Amino acid sequence: MFRLLSRPIRASTPSLRRAMASATTPDYNKVLYTPLAQADPEVQNIIDKETWRQFSGLELIASENLTSLSTMEANGSILTNKYSEGLPGARYYGGNEWVDELEVLCQKRALQAFHLDPAKWGVNVQPYSGSTANFAALTALLSPQDRLMGLGLPDGGHLTHGYYTAKKKMTASSIYFQSLPYGLDPATQHIDYKGVASQAKIYKPRLIICGASAYPRDWDYKTLRTIADEHGAFLMSDMAHISGLVAGGENSSPFDYCDVVTTTTHKTLRGPRAGLIFFRKDLEHAKDLEKRVNEAVFPACQGGPHNNTIAGIATTLLQATQPTWKAYAKQVVKNAQTIAQELVSHNYKLQTSGTENHLVLWDLRPLGLTGSKLEKLCDIVGITINKNAVSGDASAQVPGGIRIGTAAITSRDMLEADVKVVADFLHRSVQIALVLQKEAGSKLLKDFVRVATTEQEGKEGYKLVQELRREVRAFARKWPLPGVDVANLKKPAGIEEDD
Ligand SMILES: *Cc1c(COP(=O)(O)O)cnc(C)c1O
Repeated sequence: MFRLLSRPIRASTPSLRRAMASATTPDYNKVLYTPLAQADPEVQNIIDKETWRQFSGLELIASENLTSLSTMEANGSILTNKYSEGLPGARYYGGNEWVDELEVLCQKRALQAFHLDPAKWGVNVQPYSGSTANFAALTALLSPQDRLMGLGLPDGGHLTHGYYTAKKKMTASSIYFQSLPYGLDPATQHIDYKGVASQAKIYKPRLIICGASAYPRDWDYKTLRTIADEHGAFLMSDMAHISGLVAGGENSSPFDYCDVVTTTTHKTLRGPRAGLIFFRKDLEHAKDLEKRVNEAVFPACQGGPHNNTIAGIATTLLQATQPTWKAYAKQVVKNAQTIAQELVSHNYKLQTSGTENHLVLWDLRPLGLTGSKLEKLCDIVGITINKNAVSGDASAQVPGGIRIGTAAITSRDMLEADVKVVADFLHRSVQIALVLQKEAGSKLLKDFVRVATTEQEGKEGYKLVQELRREVRAFARKWPLPGVDVANLKKPAGIEEDD
């Protein structure tokens, strides 16, 4: 009765194969041996539905990727049971012999993946995620209320780089520290490096953060280093989005110029959800950076590390040190550039007119469309994207564009010719959105959604949506999905489809 439709293939994790409760197992412990599908069909069904969604749609969210079977196995392993506060060889708990070996291996691979000299660089692999890694890094580098500068959120920066609004200090990075955003040059939409220099002259930051969540260009770390040095400031790169491309040599390396580098491990790096903090060990002005970073992670900001996740990071980093990784990173960028070229050939406007990494920022304002409407329509047809501010947006509440990334579809084996099909789906989505907007009779999102999802006499938008949805689905289901036996995947209960 329990069809295990979409569970990852477990062939190589015999330790997690079903072991039976014995005759003497007390009732309260029997559940410990029951597989998920049987113990909790409700959660299993939700996982099945999500698996079906990932299989049937096109994942274009620039911060997402599809992690490997081996990473999912590690992440779902028995290592989740172990407490190991502290660092290898210096724990607050016993029984950490193998966990120590794991964490040391993970550290070694992290340095290898980014071609770092262990005499100059160290790494902490314990951060639970990107945001916690960043807060720990700020805790290590700054005293409370010290000044930092980061790329402004509307210009592509991340919340954790000091974001605040006129009314509110929005994140810990602006609550516990002072911050000032820098921005883009309105003419080129590249980072306004001259502006950073003149702002820094006045503001005198202790820390300059580079890195972004929505910036399609590579970074000039050397220039930022010069600016930081003028004021005795630290330079930190948060390469969360591009770390897979840095490991693959497709984007320039922040390690050449920065004191600290943080990253998530689940974006282009294609690992489990976690973070890393790299720190220089040989800085004249901060010889104790290693100690400061390690103490900031634990005990200042976190408790026990997630060892199952650290195992997932380690196996991911092994992949990122292989020659095949370079080819993956190259293809991610090629695919993004192909989508950019296709959209430009239809005369659409892209921020910076193109891309050097895995993402494209599409400015919809010349079309009279908002990012929210296109995101909504794309959701309905099975293309997952997100609305995003574009340079010069009047209001952060009404983002004028969308962000598109190619890391996940590249992990589903798509090459240039395939992403041209994806670009055409996007082109059609925009054309349909324009039809729907007309038929909605108002500019309201709810009217737009109504005409997109309900059939009405004499209106063609709904039919076009249905048609595109069918095509997107059929196309998406031609591709594999890591960790899932798609050939035997069946539509789970609770999914309604008209075909
Ligand atoms: C995604 C991202 C983060 C935050 O990562 P989480 O794992 O979501 O906490 C931090 N910085 C940048 C630049 C990011 O893109």
